[in-house]
Formats: sequence, structure tokens, C-alpha cells
Amino acid sequence: MKPRVAFFDFTGCEGCQLEVLNFNLEIVDLIGAVDIVEFREASSDHSDDYDIAFIEGSQTTDRDVERVQKIREKAKILVALGACSCTGGVNALKNRFSMEENLKVVYGDSAKLYSTIPTRPTSAYVKVDVHLHGCPPNRNEVISLVKCLLTGKKFEQCHNPVCVECKLAENICAFERGEFCLGPITRGGCNAVCVTGGRKCWGCRALVDEPNVNSEKEILKKYGLTMDDMMMQFKLFNGALEVSK
Ligand code: SF4
Ligand code: SF4
Ligand code: SF4
Repeated sequence: MKPRVAFFDFTGCEGCQLEVLNFNLEIVDLIGAVDIVEFREASSDHSDDYDIAFIEGSQTTDRDVERVQKIREKAKILVALGACSCTGGVNALKNRFSMEENLKVVYGDSAKLYSTIPTRPTSAYVKVDVHLHGCPPNRNEVISLVKCLLTGKKFEQCHNPVCVECKLAENICAFERGEFCLGPITRGGCNAVCVTGGRKCWGCRALVDEPNVNSEKEILKKYGLTMDDMMMQFKLFNGALEVSK
């Protein structure tokens, strides 16, 4: 029997689901190997019977927390799909303000009809078996994870910082272009796609294991920057990690 896979969306832009749909031929292979029983962006099917649950987005209401806990009870494997679920992502920018203020800005006079809670990673509420980082995650990594789940192999996260892939791509360093790049401390696995595309790394794939802090300090010093400058940038995608401590 094929594993039953469900995709669930919480608060996010739904770009992670879209990235999965953009697999084109790979999604056909994927569908052949698993039964996708819930995937709102692609199908009206619904099921409460699944083995693997992908969680896109962050939980921003108490009702969301209850929902993700129920999903956890049913799923054998739960995957946090993308930055919003893995770290809170850009949704956590709201944690800089009071929840009352956020509701008022968004809903105006109707604010009292709604509720919200500070953004935290999904792992703050339920056990997460695998984190697929990125905004959105790298499609090859998603496929690699599904293959590992099907074959029982251990899924290995990328343990290099983005800089390794960036140098392999022979990019001109963003610091040399006068930009602030988070590549030295960010988990790779995205092939430094942003730098290769002419931009810089914003740290959407979270902190790499054992970041080389001394090397980072040297780079910052060379360009007249500080660790505080770096943390300000890093909080764009990772601000919720402070709340979850
Ligand atoms: S991680 Fe990025 S692409 Fe995925 S839902 Fe959040 S904002 Fe959208
Ligand atoms: S700091 Fe940024 S631009 Fe420079 S090598 Fe690292 S990832 Fe590439
Ligand atoms: S280069 Fe940085 S911001 Fe861009 S996808 Fe990779 S980790 Fe995310």
C-alpha cells in the first residue's frame, strides 16, 4: 500500500505548496509513489487518514494550535515545510508589536472579532520529525525527502553554509557589491539561488549547524559591520526563534 500524504496550510503565502506543484514531471512520479490525500491548492479531496503530514505556514491562532496538534496525533511523520513552519518566517515580524496593535492595523474597527497569538515555529507546539527549510523550500530537497521516507533512508539536511554553494557557483560576493549577506551563517541546500540571481542571502533557511562565528566576525569587521547589524537582518526570517526559547 502506498504511503498516504497530506499537505496542510496554515498562515503563509502558500508559496511552499506552489513550489511542490511546480515540480512538473517530478510531481507525476511522486503521485505514482504515494497517495496524495489532501492538498488544498491542487485538489478538493479531503481525508483524515494519512501517514505523512506536510505543514505549511505558521500557527497564528489558538484554533491553529489545536488543529496542528490533531494532525500530529494522526500522522506517523510530520514535516515542517518552509520557513513559516520551521522558524515562523516573515510572519514573526508581527511579534515586534502587541497582538492588539496587529489586529487593529489589519482589521480596523472589526479587530475585536478576531484573535491572534505571537508567531512561533510549529515545533513549539508539536514534535516535528523533519524540517524542510527555505522560503520556499528547495524542490530537490523535497523530492529527496520523499524518496528517503519511501525507502526508509535517513534524510540528511545540508550542513554547509550558503557560502559554500555560492563560491562553487563562482558568484561575486555580495559584500564586495556593498550588500549585507547572511550566507556565512545560513544553512545551505538552495544552491545560493538568491546570490546567483544577483541579490543577497536573507537567511531564509535558518542558522547552519555550528556556524563559524569567528569567521563571521572577521567578515563583519572587514566591512565595518557588527553582530547586532547581522542579528537585525537575521530576524527577518528567524525572529520567532527568540519567542520560542
Ligand atoms: S515559507 Fe515562504 S513560500 Fe512558504 S508559505 Fe511561508 S512565506 Fe510562503
Ligand atoms: S557572503 Fe553571501 S555573497 Fe558572499 S560568498 Fe557568502 S553567500 Fe556568497
Ligand atoms: S540564498 Fe539565502 S535567502 Fe536565498 S534561498 Fe538560499 S538561504 Fe534563502
